[in-house]
Amino acid sequence: MGTRAVHYHHRGLCVQEEALPAMSVSVIIKWGGQEYSIRSLSEEDTVMDLKQSIKSLTGVLPERQKLLGLKVKGKPAEDVVKLGSLKLKPNTKIMMMGTREEGLEEVLAPPPENDDVVNDFDIEEEVIEVENREENLAKIARRVKDYKVEELNPPREGKRLLVLDVDYTLFDHKSCAETGQELMRPFLHEFLTSAYEDYDIVIWSATSMKWIDAKMKELGVIDNPNYKITFMLDSAAMITVHTPKRGVVEVKPLGVVWGKYEEFYSRKNTIMFDDIGRNFLMNPQNGLKIRPFMKAHLNREKDRELYKLAQYLQEIAKLEDFTGLNHKHWER
Ligand SMILES: [Mg+2]
Repeated sequence: MGTRAVHYHHRGLCVQEEALPAMSVSVIIKWGGQEYSIRSLSEEDTVMDLKQSIKSLTGVLPERQKLLGLKVKGKPAEDVVKLGSLKLKPNTKIMMMGTREEGLEEVLAPPPENDDVVNDFDIEEEVIEVENREENLAKIARRVKDYKVEELNPPREGKRLLVLDVDYTLFDHKSCAETGQELMRPFLHEFLTSAYEDYDIVIWSATSMKWIDAKMKELGVIDNPNYKITFMLDSAAMITVHTPKRGVVEVKPLGVVWGKYEEFYSRKNTIMFDDIGRNFLMNPQNGLKIRPFMKAHLNREKDRELYKLAQYLQEIAKLEDFTGLNHKHWER
């Protein structure tokens, strides 16, 4: 969750993020002289979901928030109203009035750059409460039904599934460079070539498809002669979940993929790499939290994460069932 930089300064990849697909809702909350961008919600989410997202960014409790201009038929929209029925234009600015509780401020204040990596937390204690919650499973079911997957290549019989995050996993999206190649994580193509032998490959990033597409083209991942990408997912396939300790967070629920491709993929044959552990909240067993690739110019010579992960993938691909694995120990 968080405000994302709109400009990626380095010239080779200077693309602006644009509006999400139709079913996403993106709004900008103005509060306390600042603007907070919220892009993780869908038309099926409610005003309460929006308020929860605002809470996690501002620390203002939902019951203390007054959202100006959010109206249905001239009346303030109630918490149960679905965002889709408000017919908001992308990035509609909404003024919020409300004050933070004393004490909440320190816990919930956004970190300096609102950086997801800084914002990450260890999911263990949150997991049990969240994974099987009815409302979360219902959200996944809605994504299975409504999210449109554009297949680039057909799934292959008998293959495992590898789901990959993009930012900080496959390349360093914050450093400046002349070309995307300079920011690419070392061994990326070797890694994907090797993984493709046993795994169908899916890319999943918490941004918009336009942006993901641009990045993957720049890196030479699309149309690579040595491997194929099965499909790509963007932020609209994600869901927000309420966690007891950290409020509302965005996660990447593999249930969306499993629901859409029941005959191919399941928790038994799927592994997901991400530098943000909380993305695994709905399926902790299937997540492998990798080290983020940052400061490309400094670390390009040293980083061997993908090289080592390719070996791990080869190793576990021999197994019929991944459910007994603990990916936390992947390096042992
Ligand atoms: Mg990432």
